[in-house]
Amino acid sequence: MSLVTYSGFPRIGLKRELKRALESRWRGDSSAETLLDTARMLRKRHWTLAAQAGADVVPCNDFSLYDHVLDTAVLFDAIPSRYRPVFAVDELDGYFAMARGHKRDGHDLHALEMTKWFDTNYHYLVPELEAGQRFALRGNKPLADFLEARELGFQARPVLLGPVSFLLLSKTVDGSDRVALLDALLAPYIDLLGQLADAGADWVQLDEPCLVLDLDDDDRAAYRRAYAALAAARTPRRLLASYFGALGDNLALAASLPVDGLHVDLVRAPEQLDAVLDALPACLVLSAGVVDGRNIWRSRPERVLPLLRKAQARIGDERLWLAPSCSLLHVPIDLGAETALDTKRRAPMAFARQKVEELRVYADALAGLPEAHAALAAQQALLDTQAHAPGVVDAGVRNRLRTLSPQATLRRSAYPIRRTTQAETLALPPLPTTTIGSFPQTDELRKARAAHRAGKLDDAAYDNLLKAEVERVVRFQEHIGLDVLVHGEPERNDMVEYFGEQLDGYLFTQLGWVQSYGSRCVKPPVIYGDIARRAAMTVHWSSYAQSLTDKPMKGMLTGPVTMLQWSFVRDDLPRETVCRQMALALRDEVHDLEAAGIDVIQIDEPALREGLPLRRADWPVYLAWAVECFRITAGGVRDATQIHTHMCYSEFNDIIEAVAAMDADVISIETSRSRMELLDAFVRFRYPNGIGPGVYDIHSPRVPDTAEMLDLLHKALAVLQPEQLWINPDCGLKTRGWAEVELALDHMVASARQLRGEL
Ligand code: GLN
Ligand code: ZN
Repeated sequence: MSLVTYSGFPRIGLKRELKRALESRWRGDSSAETLLDTARMLRKRHWTLAAQAGADVVPCNDFSLYDHVLDTAVLFDAIPSRYRPVFAVDELDGYFAMARGHKRDGHDLHALEMTKWFDTNYHYLVPELEAGQRFALRGNKPLADFLEARELGFQARPVLLGPVSFLLLSKTVDGSDRVALLDALLAPYIDLLGQLADAGADWVQLDEPCLVLDLDDDDRAAYRRAYAALAAARTPRRLLASYFGALGDNLALAASLPVDGLHVDLVRAPEQLDAVLDALPACLVLSAGVVDGRNIWRSRPERVLPLLRKAQARIGDERLWLAPSCSLLHVPIDLGAETALDTKRRAPMAFARQKVEELRVYADALAGLPEAHAALAAQQALLDTQAHAPGVVDAGVRNRLRTLSPQATLRRSAYPIRRTTQAETLALPPLPTTTIGSFPQTDELRKARAAHRAGKLDDAAYDNLLKAEVERVVRFQEHIGLDVLVHGEPERNDMVEYFGEQLDGYLFTQLGWVQSYGSRCVKPPVIYGDIARRAAMTVHWSSYAQSLTDKPMKGMLTGPVTMLQWSFVRDDLPRETVCRQMALALRDEVHDLEAAGIDVIQIDEPALREGLPLRRADWPVYLAWAVECFRITAGGVRDATQIHTHMCYSEFNDIIEAVAAMDADVISIETSRSRMELLDAFVRFRYPNGIGPGVYDIHSPRVPDTAEMLDLLHKALAVLQPEQLWINPDCGLKTRGWAEVELALDHMVASARQLRGEL
């Protein structure tokens, strides 16, 4: 019979127990022992839960106190020298110093850089390596986890980040070749695998997600060298795991590596099954990733069963394992905890636990159990009914999208004409100053919001409090002399949730937490149905704010791509269709803002870049619809209405054409940390529209002085036309304190005044 397994489980705990334990330890409120006890309790709970859900084999070493890439770096002693003194005193403190920096006992260490794990919203710590780097086995985490599982009665499969992906995900601080370090790294890998074999592990899983990326010949050669070396050593049987996409042009490579099993993602790339089966050497196990580890929907038996049957027919039950497409790290733990969701909304959903249960049913069906067949037929019928249920399909939305004219993406005139019109109507000074939208979210505001939600603060009192905050923000901006004002976003908890709550087609979970990094989690809202706007969402706040001042007030919206990127998106429609629906809803908001006298409207797209597909070849299609959706949102407004967009820390070199095609009148970007380097792409492209390169790093409590901002602005003026340049911070100010913000914005306005004098 086919085995049911999975390659990793969420670590944080249903009630975010790990988060609480970590933060308590970091505050010094509890001991390391307490934290490790919580971690052990969670591992046991999750193994038990998965086994009860029907898993035959559980993974181990998928758990991490902070991040599995950091675990791997520490495991192989890839510890930059600055952290070593902390490790010398306490291993766990050393580990957390790498994760979050360390300011204690005369140390002031910054953390490792963090970056996104492929195209997920999980962030990993980037190991820092250097030429001549030595590696050695440090500690015994994978072995300890294996023994811990066995003690509890589970024959677990240790999961390791594979050596080549580990190197490709690392960076060298001296610019030397990462892959050149492979041979040095293999020795401790081999040691470790030997230890696991000695301890009785019959399988080990080597995660090589980089196999779904565009690789060059050197990377491919590294794969061959690495896996040949492991094959020559004494190791458990090796399962090579690819996920997040098709193996594509790396299939021949993957299938040629001397391993005992191959895991492939058949959710993102079901079409690769035939080629995989053709390429798979005899005797190899195929771990078929058929249930989506990236999303919260039940699988469709009509899609999954044919894949499994085909694989079963070709390789038989013994060689076929059933698994989620990737680690379940990216989905919440248990739908059973969502007691507030009505059953009809809940029925098509599956969290980690339910995904393992689904796999069990598929395995039972392959084995011919009639109940399993009945269950799958029922599941398919349910999904079919759901797909047409009221609330899921909105005929008006479908019709509007179907009949949408291509004209909808157009502004009335080209940028040069709009520019002149806007200059006349807005009458801004040269080098106008503005901010990105949010002002500090004070404790008072957060408490009031919580009280309002809990029904302890009535609507009127809450509204008055927010109005008072808007007024304070407006008066402050007038006082220091900013040119384009914002209302400060005090009414928003989160830039996606705020809109999601007002749109049809969205639902919210109670405990749908997903780890973002370390102890940080997000609770992505769920798009289950067609997106429609019930009523104006922001006009109330923007017009109130505008009524307080003669300066232009900038309306503030989250763009369609960002709304999508930070939500769980329905899987019964193409993402681009959902995005177009979102764009139409936001377009109506743009028009309502315009009609209410808001002449400047910002549509934030900080997540546009992170939506890029993993393979270059897929970029143009994504960028085309992403840009189109932005243009639908902004389209049709008067020439006098100035459309802004904002994009956070992101490289622009390879997407500059798309950014230019968005054709926002003004774009603000995050540039202060890179000291304006990120402007290069715009300069090379001769980007013609307005641009505000950030001069204030809002991620740091440090307040830059006027001279520092002037220096950045001089750099910008050296390469941009003065008529293009706007002056603003890098991003919104919601995480900063008022004292810092007052000073920093004051310096910013002073730098603008001085620069105007120099023009
Ligand atoms: N308007 C948002 C703010 O200022 C933008 C946030 C973001 O880019 N992440 O908070
Ligand atoms: Zn931003």
